Formats: sequence, C-alpha cells, structure tokens
Amino acid sequence: MTNDDHGDALLALLNSTPVTDGVAEDLMADPAYAAGLARRFGGEGTASEVHELARARDGLQDVARTGTVGVELDQILHDVAQAPSPLTPDGLHWHLAGPAAALPAARAIIAWSDLVTRRPGRLRPCGNPDCRRFLVDRSKGNTGRWCSMATCGNRMKARRHYSRQHAAAEPEGRDRDEPRRTS
Ligand SMILES: [Zn+2]
Repeated sequence: MTNDDHGDALLALLNSTPVTDGVAEDLMADPAYAAGLARRFGGEGTASEVHELARARDGLQDVARTGTVGVELDQILHDVAQAPSPLTPDGLHWHLAGPAAALPAARAIIAWSDLVTRRPGRLRPCGNPDCRRFLVDRSKGNTGRWCSMATCGNRMKARRHYSRQHAAAEPEGRDRDEPRRTS
C-alpha cells in the first residue's frame, strides 16, 4: 500500500472545521462523516479511530497554521511502525503496524508528511482571514491563495473592489465642504 492515495482525504480532514457565514463547524461531530473519513484512511470507522483522527487533524491544522508540531502527533505515531509485507515478484511493499485505533490517524500524518516533503510550501491556510480551510497549491508559480476560487476567491475580490470604491469616494465627500483645488 502506498500513502499517495491519501492526499485528497488529508485535505478533507484538514478542511473539516469550516467557517460558514461566520459560524465555525466541526464536520467530524457528525459520526457518519467522521467514520467515513477514518475509512478513507484505511480504518473501519470505529469511535476510537475517529477520536485519534480528530487529534491528528487538530495537530496538523496547528502545524499548517503556525509551523509548530504539538506532542499529540508524536503520541499518535509512538507505537506505529512500517513493516514489510511478504515479498512479491513486484518488489517490497510496506504496511503500517500498530494499535488499530491509531492507524487511520497515523496514515493522515504520513500523508501530510509526504505532502510537505514532496511539495514544500504548498500546503497553507486560505488567504481569506474569515475562512478556516486549507489549500494545496498545485499552480506553477505557487501563487494560489484561496481554498476555493468560487467561494473565498470571489468573496475577497468583491471585498477589495468594494474598499477601493469606498476609498475613491471619500476625498470627493470631503471636497464638497472645501473649495475645490485647481492644480
Ligand atoms: Zn477559504
């Protein structure tokens, strides 16, 4: 098994605490959603897997926002090891061994590690300060700023447009009470 398949699941995990219209949500509070996420990381969707996966999410969100690695991530990985599967003519394959509850969370951490080593600087928080989502920038110039152009990108553009218009309107407002300069 490779961990490459978990990139999309990783972003779904990191983005499971969205803020919509100013209200913070935790999608993992829905047991069915949380169990589905655990299964995407190779688990069975048990409550203990979900518990560990939520800890991994919180720790990985912190790293992505602040660059600081909390102890919970090391705790999750503590009893986990990669072990060789029986050798096949295709070569050597590795599987994750350790406490069942920790395995989906460990796969999420491994997926994050794969991402930041293969694509350094590409995982980052959305540029909309009101948004709690993350993006993986796959653009050539690494210039992506929004979790989604359709939502945050357009919203931030509209906000900048509004403040430009607002700023442009202000001097005129003041001029009304002052003699107009003729320079
Ligand atoms: Zn966003």
